[in-house]
Amino acid sequence: MPSGRFKKILIANRGEIAIRIISACKELGIGTVAVYSEADRYSSHVRFADQAICIGPAKSARSYLDVPSIISAAEITNVDAIHPGYGFLSENADFAEVCEASGIAFIGPKPDVIRLMGVKERARGFMQEMGVPILPGSAGVLASAEEAVDVAERIGYPVILKASAGGGGRGMRVVESAGALPSLLEQARQEAGAAFSSPDVYLEKYIAAPRHIEFQVLADELGSVEILGERECSIQRRHQKLLEESPSPAMNDTLRHEISARLQKALSAARYTNAGTVEFLMDENGNLYFIEVNARVQVEHPVTEATTGIDIVKSQIRIAQGERLRALLRGPVQLRGHAIECRINAENPETFAPSAGRITGFHPPGGIGIRVDTWTYADCVVPPYYDSLIAKLIAHGNDRAEAIARMRRALDMFVVEGIHTSIPLHKRILADPAFLEGRLDTHFINRLLAAPSPAIGAV
Ligand code: ADP
Repeated sequence: MPSGRFKKILIANRGEIAIRIISACKELGIGTVAVYSEADRYSSHVRFADQAICIGPAKSARSYLDVPSIISAAEITNVDAIHPGYGFLSENADFAEVCEASGIAFIGPKPDVIRLMGVKERARGFMQEMGVPILPGSAGVLASAEEAVDVAERIGYPVILKASAGGGGRGMRVVESAGALPSLLEQARQEAGAAFSSPDVYLEKYIAAPRHIEFQVLADELGSVEILGERECSIQRRHQKLLEESPSPAMNDTLRHEISARLQKALSAARYTNAGTVEFLMDENGNLYFIEVNARVQVEHPVTEATTGIDIVKSQIRIAQGERLRALLRGPVQLRGHAIECRINAENPETFAPSAGRITGFHPPGGIGIRVDTWTYADCVVPPYYDSLIAKLIAHGNDRAEAIARMRRALDMFVVEGIHTSIPLHKRILADPAFLEGRLDTHFINRLLAAPSPAIGAV
């Protein structure tokens, strides 16, 4: 395991997060190696890295997920570390292990911790033991339909079946009654098996209209854990986040401190290191329940960067170099103002159908309180093979009202021509009375889309 300062880092990712990591490396004076698929030959992460290596064809399984190709690229270029970004290999404990066995630092938690957090019902059991509240549910993986019916009877319907190795909202089924349980269990098992190569499914109480609230964590390799406040991510489509903000309009200092203290204890006990996010659902009465840990940097990390002033990606790199959290943070974590992120996806704003193709015109907004993280530029081609995220627009203000006003004018000044994007949908969200009042839950988007669409130009 190399120690001391890194001289060169390979970024095992693409898109905006690859550029984000390259930016952090440049600020730290660290060299960068980009890897890219044949479909990404003209992508800007290739241009901005010091070196770039083609690792295979467009299909992720043969490029961004191909461990031997990535390790070969790292060995040829003699890097000290690999940053996996999010998605792809970022939560693959075997990959983290291969990196370490090859003498390359993996910028993320240790393989055994990734493994614990990756098995969702084990993470649930661990958090419960540590005094972090969880939803009532099965003690582990469901062994049979009979067991599922027994547990559901005990906790009461509705319940939700979830894939043990789940991610991206796949392998989940809401169950309203005992009659529907066996067939939905079978469906969830099959979907989980196909998506994650593991049919394991567990069950927990379904909350009818939850808010999704998550806590950002940084932990060094010497046992210090800090919680950087929370983000609210209730605005979702198909269980995938669309708009995130910090702080949550539903949070108060007492609850934030209480949950942060419990998480600090639990994550120290787990020997958690580097960055991570602990996700919770909040019920109608304001109670928080743990749902999962994402053992990596998240798409929505910039809202926390805006409210804390802490560069999360640089912190990840410095932690992996063995630096102390205390030296990185320079004092207690303080939350300042309010930040919102809109995910600008290449997709139809109402049906969410992907919209790949050439961007003919591109003009990102700027000015005070605005940040744009993107990999796109005028005349680039959005390939159909990957995630539809083309840009993240982040607005920071002294309070929520100012952040909203900044976001609205920035959306008006964001021009993307040639493909469909989620910009019109974000304009509708930012004009919605419930959003403005902070009345959010995970069904917000369904309600918004069910309402009559305002005339073009009215939002
Ligand atoms: P994934 O790992 O697939 O993203 P999560 O456990 O993070 O799955 O849940 C994703 C989303 O699914 C949540 O943000 C929420 O909208 C919904 N969800 C998950 N569990 C529940 C539950 N028990 N009750 C209601 N909604 C849930």
